[in-house]
Amino acid sequence: MIAKSMIPYVEGNSAIRAMFEEGARMARQFGPENVYDFSLGNPSVPAPEEVNQAIRDILDEEDPLLVHGYNQSNSGYEDVRTAVAEHLNRLHGTSYAAGNIIMTVGAASGLNVALKTFLDPGNEVLAFAPYFVEYSNYAKNHGASLRAVPADTETFQPNLSLLQEMIGEKTRAVIINSPNNPTGVVYSEETLRELADILTNCSQKLGHTIYLISDEPYRELAYDGVKVPWVPDFYPNTIVGYSWSKSLSLPGERIGYLVFPSELDDFENAVNAANIANRVLGYVNAPTLIQRAAARCIECSTDIGVYDRNRKTLYEGLLDAGYTCTKPQGAFYLFVKSPIEDDKEFCAIAKKHHILVVPGSSFACPGYVRMAYCVSYDTIVNSLPHFKELMEEIQAM
Ligand code: PLP
Repeated sequence: MIAKSMIPYVEGNSAIRAMFEEGARMARQFGPENVYDFSLGNPSVPAPEEVNQAIRDILDEEDPLLVHGYNQSNSGYEDVRTAVAEHLNRLHGTSYAAGNIIMTVGAASGLNVALKTFLDPGNEVLAFAPYFVEYSNYAKNHGASLRAVPADTETFQPNLSLLQEMIGEKTRAVIINSPNNPTGVVYSEETLRELADILTNCSQKLGHTIYLISDEPYRELAYDGVKVPWVPDFYPNTIVGYSWSKSLSLPGERIGYLVFPSELDDFENAVNAANIANRVLGYVNAPTLIQRAAARCIECSTDIGVYDRNRKTLYEGLLDAGYTCTKPQGAFYLFVKSPIEDDKEFCAIAKKHHILVVPGSSFACPGYVRMAYCVSYDTIVNSLPHFKELMEEIQAM
């Protein structure tokens, strides 16, 4: 008999599987070119050739015992962590060293390592709606719970006045994500300054540190010259989580890192605990070959122009068809207001037009739907008449 705690996950998973199967069935029935699947955040730009070349070079040039072996430290190879630290220093004027970096199995494991480091059972984590659906599961993994700070749907910047009201004795961490999945919004410097003030004041009042976990797998995906602020510049008790899943299109390779700045309260203990958390959670160390490849490709980037073209065409096409949405500044998602109140019902109607989108209620923000525009440009262009027909059907209802 499986654990009771797993039953809701199993049921939820069947719903996701049903959606995938339905998408695959529709592709078989109507032809893949006639199904407009905006449901998945899987990069549509292949990983840069430099990554493949780096892997070949590593296999030819480096000691196989090193390349495929356990790492001496659960935090990863020292030279790889130094390469990451120096890269961040060049970008942000910081002075990190290997000791500030922990290599992780993608952003997902990084979040779990960070939460394991700071959470005791019964603690609470706050996240701003809409947020990446897994955050709540990750908090539960460590006996904690996640509470959603309701969205500010005017701007989709974090709702800071509500945050202040919701912080309490149990609050140990706040998770933010910018550029944001699902809205594409980049949190402004002003927002981060205010957020930092609130967290500093509340930490003082409560007598314990509230850590800020900044989940940044989309950091490089920002458009129109928008600057993504470096969060530890605003709040010293920030842990940054990063991954190359989106920025180098390597989601299956499971590679990322955490930054523990030296300014963190209880830094030595925290970084030591995180190193151990990487081990006891069973990750042991981040995958070795791809750690080394990431270090060699530290200055590489994806062709963001592909996503930018999709973003503009889909955004303008949707406005033209009568939809409302905030223009995304980053990531590869559009968060569109559902033209009817029930976002799940809207998704079901959209499916009749061969359009697959995800309800906002999956991101703790009902009344909206998420479209992942990391798809082919043809999919975007060919979907637009169907979005129009969908809107016409809704308006005639
Ligand atoms: N955080 C956010 C906001 C995401 O959108 C995702 C994946 O889509 C992740 C974390 C997990 O990323 P990774 O594949 O690096 O574990």
